[in-house]
Amino acid sequence: MPPRQLIAGNWKMHRTPSETGRILRDLVSRVGQASPRGEVAVAPPFTSLPAAAEILRGSGIALAAQNVHWEEEGPFTGEVSAKMLAEIACRYVIVGHSERREHFSESDRRINQKVRAVLFREMTPILCVGEKSDERASGRAGQVVDAQMKRGLANIRLIDDQDLVIAYEPVWAIGTGVTATPADAREMHIRIRAELAAAFGAARAEQIRVLYGGSVNRSNAEALLSTPGVDGALVGGASLEPESFLGIVRAAPEAPSQA
Ligand code: PEP
Repeated sequence: MPPRQLIAGNWKMHRTPSETGRILRDLVSRVGQASPRGEVAVAPPFTSLPAAAEILRGSGIALAAQNVHWEEEGPFTGEVSAKMLAEIACRYVIVGHSERREHFSESDRRINQKVRAVLFREMTPILCVGEKSDERASGRAGQVVDAQMKRGLANIRLIDDQDLVIAYEPVWAIGTGVTATPADAREMHIRIRAELAAAFGAARAEQIRVLYGGSVNRSNAEALLSTPGVDGALVGGASLEPESFLGIVRAAPEAPSQA
């Protein structure tokens, strides 16, 4: 049986440290009432991480970062390493988000290095994969995602307690208000699980959560989160305010879904 669902909020380049404090204090005080059946994580911008770590300590809500550099330290102006994130109690790091692939030319090779760097520091990468609209239209969605999985996880072995999360995020669904249908999400999640089984073995693959991301909101969360093989959600816009984010958290099903 897969572990409980993960509902992770990706704040992107939104919210100052003081805004982060306001939102997270509210979230922490209300998340108990939401009786989350899944795990909750938030990924504010780097500048907000220390304040967020302070507020989230002992709350049960996990801290996540949105990006990381692949080296531990060095002459990389403007970058932040896994070693730094680990010291402020980040549990998750989003790697390979489509906005980074698109606007910062991140290659699968770099993404693979980042996954390694995060695992080395005993945090959990949330590796994002997903096809663009033209790739889906031309029937290549599956191949594109297979290739991202293979390259992103090339030569990676999961040892001991190391954990990994995959987020299937069709690029055309991000920030557009359009979501994949539960059937399309299911099909892609099965495919992703097959790649995980090839990389880590079938038993280990069952323990790796595969999230869906792309315009998840309060209204569509229940249908998506109860889709077999969907182990949670990576949420952008709807994670920016506690009310809408909690609406998604509340929609997590009681028992993990089976692929
Ligand atoms: C995201 O950026 O990871 C995302 C899923 O965004 P949104 O929920 O706004 O589509």
